[in-house]
Amino acid sequence: MAKNEFKDSLKSQMLKRTLVPLTLMTIAIVAVSASIVKKSITDQMETELVRDAQMVEFIFDEFYVGDYRIEEDENNEPQVYKGDQLLNGEDTLMAKLSKIQNIDVSIFHDDIRVLTTLVDKAGNSAMGTKAAAVVKNDVIENGKSVFYDNVMVYEQKSFAYYKPILGEDGAVIGMIAVCRSGEDVQKQVVNYVLPVVGVCIVVAIFFGFIMVRFNGKIAERIYKMDRYMNKLANGEFDYEMPRELMTKDDEIKNLATDGKSMARAIKTLVEFDALTELNNRRSADKKLEEIRVRMADMGMKYCVCIGDIDFFKKVNDTYGHEMGDEVLRQVAGKLKSGMVGKGFVARWGGEEFLLIFDNRELDIAHRELSMILDAVRTIIIPGNEKQITMSFGLTAMVPGETTDEALKRADTNLYEAKEGGRNQIVCR
Ligand code: GH3
Ligand code: MG
Ligand code: MG
Repeated sequence: MAKNEFKDSLKSQMLKRTLVPLTLMTIAIVAVSASIVKKSITDQMETELVRDAQMVEFIFDEFYVGDYRIEEDENNEPQVYKGDQLLNGEDTLMAKLSKIQNIDVSIFHDDIRVLTTLVDKAGNSAMGTKAAAVVKNDVIENGKSVFYDNVMVYEQKSFAYYKPILGEDGAVIGMIAVCRSGEDVQKQVVNYVLPVVGVCIVVAIFFGFIMVRFNGKIAERIYKMDRYMNKLANGEFDYEMPRELMTKDDEIKNLATDGKSMARAIKTLVEFDALTELNNRRSADKKLEEIRVRMADMGMKYCVCIGDIDFFKKVNDTYGHEMGDEVLRQVAGKLKSGMVGKGFVARWGGEEFLLIFDNRELDIAHRELSMILDAVRTIIIPGNEKQITMSFGLTAMVPGETTDEALKRADTNLYEAKEGGRNQIVCR
């Protein structure tokens, strides 16, 4: 049954199947582009920090000629020297470098900062603070230069490059570190990704809109198809096929055309008599009901008539059932052609027929029926010159009466016609 509301209508299914992948695709594009941007910024950051570290090293080598070495002072505190220059404490050269390059530079003895531009939020120097354990392990213990994209410096994710400092004997005595806050990079990623997000959303909305409209049109056609099939299933075989079903040369059009053909085939089976190809008793009943409504609503005039082939049993008995069938077909042909433009004819049952004259006075219908009877009389059983005749009971429908009352009168008239010698019309 076609309903207006479905639990899970095609339209909503298509909508879901369009919007969910689009949303997922948008999220994926944004995530992938964010990670690509982050990766490229991180790579760039690594290159820059390595270069900065080399520069710090180079400048120190130029300004403070000699090796790094550690000496303990009177308080047994380790002091880092580069050549003759004591590096502990503050160093204006390093402070300038830090400012120009927007980096923090630290010199470590072992894993402890002995010289640094790093300050906490309150502005206190990070001197004396320790490097992270992972850094100590990688750089001090394994002697490797390492870049970190996510090292915690003062509870802030930072990018940092650590390079071991070798003493006179080649052993690792500390490290040089250059680092930059991750906050800047995060801002940069956001700045790069925001336009991508914007474009993705606009494109997703654009395609979403197009797909929703496209799917909506298909869903609408399928909905119309469903309603159309529903009409056919309810026996409304003449229901007009909605134009939208035929707009595209596609499966929906095929379905609709097949539906129409099926409806035609079923209509033929349901409404027509196979032998005579006239309307059957069932469609005659439907027609009578239509007439009743039209008479009541529009004051239309109708005449009804029941006709019966005379001595038909004899035809069967004498010439065989097949010849009987052939006579039925020929009689039906005469009735049908005789009623063209006048009204309706049906096989009422056996060798009886119902004729309905539309919008006519009884005398006109009588005259026309006489001509039809004349036509029937021309049917001759081949080779035997046996003429076929019919008897008819004709009557006008009276406003306000039921169709059964009119039919009963027609039947009585038919009976009289038979009694009166057959091959005639009784009209009353
Ligand atoms: P009357 O003039 O009084 O109408 O006589 P009748 O012989 O025509 O009437 P009766 O009711 O005695 O016989 C009708 C016959 O029609 C009986 C039945 O076998 C025959 N008949 C009904 N339907 C068909 C059909 O589809 N094919 C054939 N061949 N005969 C049919
Ligand atoms: Mg009969
Ligand atoms: Mg008969």
